[in-house]
Amino acid sequence: MPQPASHQLGLLGGTFDPPHLGHLAAARAVQAQLGLHRVDLLVANDPWQKSGDRTVSPAAVRLEMARALVTDTPGLGVDDREIRRGGPTYTADTLEEIHRESPNTEIFLIVGADTAGRIHSWHRPEVVLALSTLVIVNRTDHASDIAGATSVHVHMDPVNVSSTSIRERVAAGQSLDGFTTPDVARIIAEHGLYGERT
Ligand code: ATP
Repeated sequence: MPQPASHQLGLLGGTFDPPHLGHLAAARAVQAQLGLHRVDLLVANDPWQKSGDRTVSPAAVRLEMARALVTDTPGLGVDDREIRRGGPTYTADTLEEIHRESPNTEIFLIVGADTAGRIHSWHRPEVVLALSTLVIVNRTDHASDIAGATSVHVHMDPVNVSSTSIRERVAAGQSLDGFTTPDVARIIAEHGLYGERT
């Protein structure tokens, strides 16, 4: 498909186990503040830095939940390429793939401040930083600069929600109101996710 001279694409990568209102707020804030054409949630197939700690839900279910999260928000979408590719998920591979397919796409890689601080522990971080502008969203109130990165900071009203807190709430039988959308909560219930402490 022909692309405009420069297509500005935001990517919010994550495990999304499950996706929540913090993800939604971050994607919306970045799209609005940077005026990006689109922001996609990029659902990891095998998040190798997390999968050692606990059993991650199947990729297909995490994908279904991510789609449900953004369904009512114009300009937000979901990219399933990492799941279609299979294997351990390396963001560097993903960015190279997108760059090859659409060289005119300018990639804005969105990360919470906590994730930004760990980026040098990723696979081939120099490729990630060369092929994207890092968008650091304040997950806390402060964010530091990342060596070797072209980065911008986006401030949003903090949304104090994590996937971990949702898994714990489900295990404790607590409501997910104000943590994720009703559609995502319904999918969690349908699949019986997080029933036991993970
Ligand atoms: P977990 O609690 O299982 O570690 P998580 O809530 O951090 O999960 P991820 O899917 O790992 O969710 O996060 C994907 C990306 O979204 C990361 O860059 C993370 O920093 C960012 N993020 C997660 N929660 C928030 C939030 N509440 N506000 C802003 N950014 C967030």
